Amino acid sequence: MIRLQNIQRTYASDEVETTALADIDLHVVKGEFLAIMGPSGCGKSTLLNILGTVDRPTGGAYLFGDRDLATLNEAALAQLRAETLGFVFQSFNLIDELTIAENVELGLTYRKTGAGDRKARVAAAMDRVGISHRARHFPHQLSGGQQQRAAIARAIVGNPSLILADEPTGNLDTENGAQVMGILEALNAEGATIVMVTHSPAHADAAGRRIDMLDGRIVASVARAI
Ligand code: ADP
Repeated sequence: MIRLQNIQRTYASDEVETTALADIDLHVVKGEFLAIMGPSGCGKSTLLNILGTVDRPTGGAYLFGDRDLATLNEAALAQLRAETLGFVFQSFNLIDELTIAENVELGLTYRKTGAGDRKARVAAAMDRVGISHRARHFPHQLSGGQQQRAAIARAIVGNPSLILADEPTGNLDTENGAQVMGILEALNAEGATIVMVTHSPAHADAAGRRIDMLDGRIVASVARAI
């Protein structure tokens, strides 16, 4: 589904050049649940940003299906993001002025769907994560766990082929974290491909494979024993 070949990402300033990613080779197959671990500053967010096409590598190739993303312009990348990617963040990133249902509907922006279909999709996504009863509430009226479930509903409402999650349980207590992991595992069991950055070894264990990063490189790739 996705192939990164010899990906580099360097940040250049007048005096120093920082290597955020070096020689990254990664193949994510359809239906995989991949966890990314590593200490702060090792390049996890940079890697997720490149996978999410919000950042471009300074070297190497990113193949999405049969498309080489270096050949796509910004508009084409935005369309790819809208149609095939779902994002979940550590800090939820819901819009305070919008209701939960309106926030979830944002996941359908740029999708060509009729009003009735949009409503049905939003309702189904909220139902899927168990927050239908909070549809008319605003984010600040919800617990952290409920907000993250709403954010997952927003990520999946467009039926993305790849979900990118950046420390989705990082701001949650144990119980809510477990609930969010349960949802991600269920989505994966239903066929969603997930790439998740996490600091939690227990949550990484829920994934089928874990890669460890250090200093911008992948230093280990461990498949879960079945
Ligand atoms: P992690 O997510 O693992 O904490 P990051 O991907 O955020 O790591 O950062 C990897 C490296 O790239 C770090 O050394 C960081 O300082 C550097 N870096 C990240 N973003 C920038 C930037 N915009 N400008 C310069 N250096 C950056």
